[in-house]
Amino acid sequence: MADHLTQLKHDRAATTDLRLDSQTGNPTWYELSSFLVGDSPELAFALLTDITARRQSETECRQDRQYFEAIFDNLAGGVAIIDSQFVIQRANPAFARFFRCSPHAVVGRKCHEVIHSRVTPCQLHGEVCPIASCLVGGDTTRVQHRHVDADGRPHYQETTVAPLADDNGTIVSFVAMYSDFTEIKQAQEDSDAKSHQLEALNRELTVRQAQLAVQTAELEQTNAELVKLTGAKDDFVSMVSHELRTPLTAISEGINLIADGSLGPTNDQQTRFLKLAHRNCNRLGELINDLLDLSKIEAGRVDFRPARLDLFRVVNEIADTFRVLAHEKGLALESALPDAPVLVYADDRLVRRILTNLVNNALKFTDRGTITIAAVADGENVRVSVQDTGIGIPLAEQSRIFEKFHQVHHQDRGRPAGTGLGLALTRQMVAMSHGRIWFESREGTGTTFCFTLPLHPGNEEGKSDNAT
Ligand code: ATP
Ligand code: MG
Repeated sequence: MADHLTQLKHDRAATTDLRLDSQTGNPTWYELSSFLVGDSPELAFALLTDITARRQSETECRQDRQYFEAIFDNLAGGVAIIDSQFVIQRANPAFARFFRCSPHAVVGRKCHEVIHSRVTPCQLHGEVCPIASCLVGGDTTRVQHRHVDADGRPHYQETTVAPLADDNGTIVSFVAMYSDFTEIKQAQEDSDAKSHQLEALNRELTVRQAQLAVQTAELEQTNAELVKLTGAKDDFVSMVSHELRTPLTAISEGINLIADGSLGPTNDQQTRFLKLAHRNCNRLGELINDLLDLSKIEAGRVDFRPARLDLFRVVNEIADTFRVLAHEKGLALESALPDAPVLVYADDRLVRRILTNLVNNALKFTDRGTITIAAVADGENVRVSVQDTGIGIPLAEQSRIFEKFHQVHHQDRGRPAGTGLGLALTRQMVAMSHGRIWFESREGTGTTFCFTLPLHPGNEEGKSDNAT
């Protein structure tokens, strides 16, 4: 009050807002207006007005303004207030960042100048201006467009323009909000491109699937034909072999009878030719037998009777059989077996044929040295080996050695006698016995063929291997 009186005395009038705190805690505001009456400094007229409502609305207004400014300044999207002459009245920091200038520097400039670097409004350039549209329509307008910035980089932005009217309802300015959806757009474009690629891949896959279906059908048909042909081949081989065997036996016996003189004397030359014919008959017989066996095994028509078998006995018998032949060639034939009986679970006939084939080969392809038949226990199996000190198998030929009719042609020896069916047959017989067969060989040093036989029923080592 003291200040009020001082001012009254000095200016002859004074105005002061007074706050009166009540019990309820809500203050009441009064405006005290005083002025001196006449010339007397002692007489004054005072008017006390309740201005509580005005003070409250002023406080609310100030708060609203603070809220607005906090939101305006911190919005992630760019916001600008632009008047109907396209002049920017106010801009937030995001707007300034968006268009690469400071918020104060854009105020007072035309929006087309700041945003598009143009001196004239956008409509004159044939473009839709959301501010102009909003001015005409009076409603909030939203447009999306591609904007190229000062560095030539494309941006996708959405602009929303809302009209601001004066007390008479006349639109005087606009709130323009800018948001950049370049990243979303790019992600969308990427995903569109990917889905196009995916569709293309899908189409290709469908085509491939269709091709595959056709190929599968063709393969199935070929397979069926092959099965039929194999059956026909097997039947043919068995039929021809049977038909050949009977007359061949008759020819062989006939030749034998003449050769041994039972049907009358023959001279030396006749005897020599008859013996040659007899030997060839035997070879033909062996070939027929091999073919017949192979075709039977491949068709699964072999009588396979595994049982407990003493390998010690079998190996010694085979060794005895071939020892004479080996000595005739100047070779030693040895067997290396454990002292105790070696019992395997195998078919006696098959094991003998396997060993016969391998020892036969060893004899055939060895000119000096020793042939050794050995057997050692190897886990659940017995490993049998036939080792020679012969000519060996060239490395390049080793992968084909088990193929039917494949024989190695050595330059100095020519084509080996026989048909090249022995090892193919042997491999099949080892597989039937649930064993494995492989070999090691060095040209000029010798060869060792190994095969396994199970100790017990059900202990299958798998199919045979090629060279290891
Ligand atoms: P077949 O056994 O049908 O009378 P073959 O002995 O020639 O004829 P396989 O036993 O199948 O046929 O052998 C195929 C080829 O492998 C032989 O021709 C020979 O070239 C080579 N071969 C087999 N065993 C040996 C070995 N121990 N030493 C060197 N080469 C061998
Ligand atoms: Mg052979």
